[in-house]
Amino acid sequence: MTAIAENIQRIKASLPEGVELCAVSKFHPVEALREAYDAGQRTFGESRVQELLAKIPEMPTDVCWHFIGHLQTNKLRQIIGRAAMIESVDSERLLRLIDSESERAGTVTRVLMQLHVAAEETKFGFTPDELTEFFSRHGFESLKATHICGVMGMATNTDDEARIAEDFRLIHSTFKKIRSEIAPDLRGFDIVSMGMSGDYPLAIECGSTLVRVGTGIFGERQY
Ligand SMILES: *Cc1c(COP(=O)(O)O)cnc(C)c1O
Repeated sequence: MTAIAENIQRIKASLPEGVELCAVSKFHPVEALREAYDAGQRTFGESRVQELLAKIPEMPTDVCWHFIGHLQTNKLRQIIGRAAMIESVDSERLLRLIDSESERAGTVTRVLMQLHVAAEETKFGFTPDELTEFFSRHGFESLKATHICGVMGMATNTDDEARIAEDFRLIHSTFKKIRSEIAPDLRGFDIVSMGMSGDYPLAIECGSTLVRVGTGIFGERQY
């Protein structure tokens, strides 16, 4: 068995029922993705539009591609109908554009709303207050071709486990508040995407349902 296949088997065996694995394949060659595919992996995460578009035709058609990076609106049209899910919706403008482009293309795009709880200023996303405010303002009947499936977030990049856990709990409590109090009628709002190679076991303890693991599967990225 290859190292990639072993990593996938080990990680999958450690996931509780109801927690899915997104294999983050950005910066890794298609050969590595094929090894993961042959080990049974079907969901892959990419963060750059050009790289995603180059990999799609090289991989079997039953791969489920998740876009996880900051999406520039001028590149959005190219991935509509190709990415099964956009995990990184970080503005209302982007959400509206995804909806209009999806409608135009005759498809429905599944999305997650990105929360920013980490200490780093450079990260994208809504603060918990902005996101709850956003959901309380909208009934979402205006979205015609977008399915909001949940939230995505990242913890602060630190060795301090208490801080990481605090970030994950805030992502999860924001999700729960939206689901139970603010938008209880929103159907299929049930994904909490959090946890990467270094912190996914902790993320699962804090309520993650989708972990995004790159290095832990494919090794270090060559930028
Ligand atoms: C790169 C990336 C990951 C994977 O990170 P690893 O530490 O390699 O597991 C997860 N989520 C997002 C949003 C990323 O950009």
